[in-house]
Amino acid sequence: MDRGISLFKVRGIQIRMHYTFPLILIFAAIQFASLTGRGLTGALFGVIVISILFVIVVLHELGHSIAAQSYGIQVKQIVLLPIGGLAQLARMPEKPSQELVISAAGPLVNFALAAVLAVLGLAYGQELSLQFGIRLPAGITLGAVFSYVFAANLFLGLFNLLPAFPMDGGRILRSLLAMRIDYSRATRWAVTIGQGLAVLMGLWGFFGGGFFLILIAFFIFFAAGQEGRMIKMRQLLGDVTVREAFSSQIRSLSPHSTLREAIALTMSSIQSHFPVRDGERLLGVLTRSRLGEALRKAGPDAFAAKFMRTDLEPVSPDEKLYIAQQLLAEADTDALPVVEGGQFLGLVTAQDVSKVYRLASRWPGFTSSRVGTAET
Ligand SMILES: [Zn+2]
Repeated sequence: MDRGISLFKVRGIQIRMHYTFPLILIFAAIQFASLTGRGLTGALFGVIVISILFVIVVLHELGHSIAAQSYGIQVKQIVLLPIGGLAQLARMPEKPSQELVISAAGPLVNFALAAVLAVLGLAYGQELSLQFGIRLPAGITLGAVFSYVFAANLFLGLFNLLPAFPMDGGRILRSLLAMRIDYSRATRWAVTIGQGLAVLMGLWGFFGGGFFLILIAFFIFFAAGQEGRMIKMRQLLGDVTVREAFSSQIRSLSPHSTLREAIALTMSSIQSHFPVRDGERLLGVLTRSRLGEALRKAGPDAFAAKFMRTDLEPVSPDEKLYIAQQLLAEADTDALPVVEGGQFLGLVTAQDVSKVYRLASRWPGFTSSRVGTAET
C-alpha cells in the first residue's frame, strides 16, 4: 500500500495517488471523446470531470480523517485508488459512537458539497440536472460541470451509505449494532446483512441490472467476508502482545553476508527471514520472498543487503499482536522488526501470528488462561 505517488499533505496527512491513476485520466479522455462524438472537447471535458471527482474523493477521505483526528486517532495516509479513496487510520476507534462519527463524516462531506452546489447553482441561475452517464450537453459550460459535480457528490454519498462492508454504511451499521450487542457479534450481523445485500444486488444485475452491478456485488460480498475474518482474528488474538509471540532467538546477517549464508541458516534452522545488522544497528530485513527473488535474479553470491527491505517500520513489543498482523498485511511482508527504545529485539512474523491464532481457535480459553498463568 506504500506504493504510489506522493502528492501533498493536509493536516499532516500525506495524500498519495496510486500509479494507475493517470491511466484513469487517459481512459476518461478517450471514453468522453468517443462516446460524446466531440473529439478534443469531449476529451477535455472527461479530464476535467475526473479531476474534479478526484478532488471530491480527497475531501470525502479528509472528512473521515479529521473526525478520526478529533478522537486522537492518527491518520497515516490517504491513498487514492482507481476504485476510490482509503484513509488509513493508525488504530480502530475504541467506542462505537466514535466509529459512527468517523464513518458518517465522509458521506456527510459529499452531502454538504451537494447542498452548497445546489445553492450556488440556484443563485447563478444554473440548472442542475442529475446526469450520471457520459454525455455532453451544448458544450463545456459551467452549468454542465456544476451538474456533474452535484450528481457525483450525491452518488458518492449515497453509494457509501450502502449498509455493507467495505462501504461506510457497513461501518455505520456495525457501530449502531455495537451500541446494543458486543462488537464481534455486531460485526457478524453487519457482515451477514452486507452479504445478503450483495446477493440481492447480484441477482438484480443478473436479471437485467447489468454486468457492472454483478461486479460490484461480487466485490462487496468478498470484502464483507474479509472484514468478518479480520474482526474474528482480532477477537481470537485478544490482548496477546507482540512480546509474547515474536521470534527473539534469531540470527542476523551482516552487510557483507551473501545470500549463500542466508540459505545455510534457512537449511539448518526454522528461520526464514533475516535481519541485516551492522553491529547493533538494524539496516533492513531480508524476508523469505525477497530471498527467493534475489536468488532468481542475482544468484547465491550476491550481497543480502542489496535485496533487503529497508522500508519496514519497526513495531514495539508492547503492541497488540492483532495490530502487528494488520501492519504485516499493510506492508505486504511476512516479517517486521521488533524494536524497543532503539534496540533491536527480533522479528514478528506471519508465522508467529498464525501460531497464536491456531492455538486460540482450538482452545477458546487460550487468552484468558494465558493471562492466568502469567499472574502466578
Ligand atoms: Zn468513506
